[in-house]
Formats: sequence, structure tokens, C-alpha cells
Amino acid sequence: MRRPGRIAIDGPAGSGKSTVGEQLAHKLGYLYVDTGAMYRALAWLALQEQSDITNGDALVQLLHEAEIVVSRPTVDDGRQYTVTANGRDITWELRSAPVALAVSTVSTHPQVREIMRARQRSMAAQEQGVVMVGRDIGSVVLPDAELKIYLNASLEERALRRHTEQVERQGSEDGLPPLAAVVEDIRRRDTMDHDNMRPAHDAIVIMTDNLNVSQVLEMIYSYLEE
Ligand code: C5P
Repeated sequence: MRRPGRIAIDGPAGSGKSTVGEQLAHKLGYLYVDTGAMYRALAWLALQEQSDITNGDALVQLLHEAEIVVSRPTVDDGRQYTVTANGRDITWELRSAPVALAVSTVSTHPQVREIMRARQRSMAAQEQGVVMVGRDIGSVVLPDAELKIYLNASLEERALRRHTEQVERQGSEDGLPPLAAVVEDIRRRDTMDHDNMRPAHDAIVIMTDNLNVSQVLEMIYSYLEE
């Protein structure tokens, strides 16, 4: 099997990139980096500090003042990684509805993206092997990544996956947004993220509607065998 040092996996919310990315990283013994968590952490901080999320310069200042650390999981509770902001573990809070509502506005500011992208490049540069997932990894962050995958699926399928994931994690539907609300949240983020979300010209595009995680991984392994 080929072992490309940098693997970029991009795609919209619910396309399966986090699950596939983490399992691929595990199989190869690479670091897994979910860049969405970095934007979510900034959104969380802005909400916490009651900063104006439409003000890019204020967000940059917040980013410089705060210490956001993304590391390998520190607690065995199903998390893929641990995120702390100024020492506080905010890993699960990043999945909350207010953060999901704010994150796309936070990530539209070019000055915010510039800082995030530089941090992502430096994380990749420090590792022998990395699987980095996001929206713009293959196209902008790591344009020379050795393998680029773009996962996609229909809006309905992606929302259903996200909803099922939340219900499974919690063990019931109590207090969770109904499926229709998840569809609307993802539709809204698709629209807002549109400009920053595009497959790199040399990405392998996989439509995952009728594929489970193992089948997507098998397809990726087959590219690595070639
Ligand atoms: O992947 P996830 O849904 O956690 O990403 C949350 C948000 O972060 C996205 O909706 C998008 O606005 C932003 N994002 C981004 N660029 C990335 C990763 C995430 O703009 N590389």
C-alpha cells in the first residue's frame, strides 16, 4: 500500500469525512486533524465573549488572545480529539446548536481563514503523516497533498446521518432538533460555506449516498494500492 504523507479529505457537513478521516488516520498511524473543530472553537469563544461574529478583526484579536489547543483524545468518551480553549475542555460544546449556527459566519472572514490555514499547514508540516479534513484542504491549505478525496452525498442523506449520530450519542431524541431542523441547518451552512467549499481539480470525488463507511474506506484503500 502507498503511504502518502498528506491526505486531504474535503466535503460538506454530513458527507462522512470525519468518520472516514479518523479511521483512515488510525489505519495508517497518522495524525487526524479536523479543521472544522478549529473554526468551531473560535465560534464558541466568540459566543462566550459575546463578540460580534460579523467583525473579522475582532475575531482575529480573539484568536490571538486565546489559546485554542487541538490534541489527541484525552478522555475515552467517543471523542475523536480534545479541544481546549484557555485550558477548558470544550470538545462536546463544539457540537452545540449555537456553535453550529455561528460557525459559518465566523469562517467567512478572509483574515480568520488566513490564520487558520497557516496553523493547519504548520500542523501538517510537523508530522510524518496526516489526514486533514475540512472544506478547502485539498484546494487551498495543502494543494500539494499526495492524496485528495472529496466526499459528497445528497442533503437529505447527510442530514439523516447527522441526526442519527446525535440520537445514538445521546441514546434518545429528547431535546434534540428534529430531522427537518437538521436539514435546514445543513442547507444554510452549505449555502454560506459555498465559496470556500470546492473539490480540488485533482481530487477523487466519491458520492457516498449508497455507501457505508467501510465501503468508502475500501475505495480509498484501493486508490492507495494502485
Ligand atoms: O466540518 P464541520 O461541519 O465541523 O465544520 C464547521 C464549519 O467550519 C463549516 O460549516 C465551515 O463554515 C467551517 N469550515 C471551513 N473550512 C474548513 C473546515 C470548516 O470554513 N476547512
